[in-house]
Amino acid sequence: MTNADPVPNAGPVPNADPRTSSATVAGGGAAAATFASLNPATGEVVGRFPIQDDAAVAAAVAAARAAVPWWVGLGQAGRRERLLRWAAQLVRDDRELVDLLHAENGKTVGDARLELLLVLEHIRWAARNAGRVLKSRRVLPGPFLADHTARVDYLPLGVVGVIGPWNYPLFTPIGSIAYALAAGNTVVFKPSEYTPALGTRLATSFAAANPDAPAGVLGVVTGLGATGAALCAAGVDKIAFTGSARTGRAVMTACATRLIPLIMECGGKDPLLVAEDADVTVAARATAWGAMANAGQTCVGVERVYVAASVAAPYLNALTRALEGIHPGMASDAPYGPMTMPAQLEVVRRQVDDALARGATALVGGSAAVGDRFIAPIVLVDVPDAAEVMRDETFGPVVTVRTVTDIDEAIALANATPYGLGATVFSRRHGDEIAARLDAGMVTVNAVQSFAGIPALPFGGRGESGFGRVHGADGLREFVRPRSVATRRLALPGTTLTTFRRPPGLLALITRLTRLRHGRTATPAD
Ligand code: NAD
Repeated sequence: MTNADPVPNAGPVPNADPRTSSATVAGGGAAAATFASLNPATGEVVGRFPIQDDAAVAAAVAAARAAVPWWVGLGQAGRRERLLRWAAQLVRDDRELVDLLHAENGKTVGDARLELLLVLEHIRWAARNAGRVLKSRRVLPGPFLADHTARVDYLPLGVVGVIGPWNYPLFTPIGSIAYALAAGNTVVFKPSEYTPALGTRLATSFAAANPDAPAGVLGVVTGLGATGAALCAAGVDKIAFTGSARTGRAVMTACATRLIPLIMECGGKDPLLVAEDADVTVAARATAWGAMANAGQTCVGVERVYVAASVAAPYLNALTRALEGIHPGMASDAPYGPMTMPAQLEVVRRQVDDALARGATALVGGSAAVGDRFIAPIVLVDVPDAAEVMRDETFGPVVTVRTVTDIDEAIALANATPYGLGATVFSRRHGDEIAARLDAGMVTVNAVQSFAGIPALPFGGRGESGFGRVHGADGLREFVRPRSVATRRLALPGTTLTTFRRPPGLLALITRLTRLRHGRTATPAD
């Protein structure tokens, strides 16, 4: 059930950006342009995929539109069963999916397994909770329309376009796909050009689990940025975008012309705060993993640490120890793998060099840690605020550590960013208080990134990190529109306000009641 079946593997090509290196037009007749996805550790071709143009994307959206009545007609119970079948199919396919995650994205087998676990938990939560969260709800009509009942229905939007990134190529789009499907929509998914095989694989698993489903329930279109742009222009009812804020702005502009609503899940510059009363060893181990896992290519990866002066020395010692022996590689037991996107190596190198040139010190690693495919862990201290690495998303295995006088200074610096995605706090006694003062969409206290693994918690940020939420009940509500229904139950004579035949005394009565109800000064008891 995909509009983008891979074309046969064309053999190894040099490791380079697939946007520029491997988009080719196959010879002969009606052949379409294709692009290759590459293994980031070896440069080998994982698969070759069509670059789908405006017409192909329009056809995918038309197929999705045609599938809406069938999917809606299944009802909540039917959709729940289909989604749970899909999860079971993904479990049957897990070996192949984990291998593909390892090959196409570069993440280690362990991280691939974790990603698949999150995918399954989210599909299950969305499937099992959509009925409860989205069921019609009675509301009170208020005193002046007391002869009415009032109800809110939640209706699917229709066709949702999902545009995804490459760093968590299954987990990230599932946050939109599973919740949009559970809410009764059909989906057209445009995976990143770096991970099209994984995107396509999601849809083939869905089709295998549900052979009677029409092709458009979950369709995939492959290609570069222009294919994503075509999806924004193809008449979908909502776009759920995950990627950089830069691309997000282009997506918003395209959607603005048609007033297409959006979810924007963009980047972050997440802080981790270590308070005076923190367990510094636990905080240091969490920093090491939160900053370096998946080669630091995590939207909620730890990028900036603010540590209270009284515990800075033991924390930095513990962090250095936690990173001993952590080297990237492609072995199945490596802590993390290569950089997925070749161009990202230069971004990291530039940010590290800029910080060092401005007087920062490399406590671990340094410029030499940036190789030609892999980057070893880098910890920078004494980095001036003006350095690029303090301001822009790094998206590599790099963390900065700043010693602060107290937690108030840590909170002020943590909040001094245009981003606001995730944050982490380590404090034995004041974690919740500190969390409440952080200007982020999600906070984990005394652990790292836990919010992403709790399906009931909404996921998303503010500012340059975007808006809207995936996951949880709020994530389900992103994919429905409310319809309000007010029904008059009784027709008490002389009480109708919305008529030209209003009884003469009614307005005087209403005026008296209004004064009684709203004219008093509020008291604490109110
Ligand atoms: P990107 O912005 O380069 O691309 C994202 C997607 O947009 C890709 O599928 C791409 O083909 C598509 N695209 C490109 N141009 C387009 C256009 N004009 N119109 C429509 N679609 C277009 O991002 P990326 O490099 O794939 O992903 C990394 C970024 O994603 C990082 O900033 C990371 O923080 C962010 N991210 C955020 C979250 C989150 O949930 N907040 C999760 C994962 C990644």
